[in-house]
Amino acid sequence: MNHQQYSNWILLEDDLDQEQQRELHLHLKGCSQCQALYQSIHQLDHLFRTASVPTPGPDFSSRWMERIEKRERRRNYRILGTTLGIVSLATVGLLSIIGLEIRSVVDFFPQVMLQLVTLLAEWLVFLSQLSNILTPLFLVGLKLISPLWLYTMLFSLGGAAAVWVGRSIINRTLHKELNA
Ligand SMILES: [Zn+2]
Repeated sequence: MNHQQYSNWILLEDDLDQEQQRELHLHLKGCSQCQALYQSIHQLDHLFRTASVPTPGPDFSSRWMERIEKRERRRNYRILGTTLGIVSLATVGLLSIIGLEIRSVVDFFPQVMLQLVTLLAEWLVFLSQLSNILTPLFLVGLKLISPLWLYTMLFSLGGAAAVWVGRSIINRTLHKELNA
């Protein structure tokens, strides 16, 4: 039996039968060349078995989720801010047009504006509370509904309500003035 055959046996040691294994180890005792190969193969094998595969830490996924949540919250706040700004401007603009059309209300306009600002502040508080409730809901199961769509709907309704309230304030003021 030559060295080549033993080299093959070293590589296939697990597949050898007892007789072949006995023969191999007998050869290894007397052959430094094959002994060296055997040792290096076993060292390599040991290295592969013990080499630590870089596995993600146990809190990796939770940290990742946290990052996603943070980014999502930031985005929601951005949408909230932008939409609130646009709707506020539109509402104020619309109310200005309505207010300017009714001359007698012009004197009461600062009062109307004050009431509107109060209303908007109350809105802001309400909406931030709402977003605190809605944000976890989005994260849990409402991903199907785009937050942008939902916020747009919400603010459209809010804007319409504000216009309605504003108009009723103007009407009441006008009514009071007409009766005076
Ligand atoms: Zn040998």
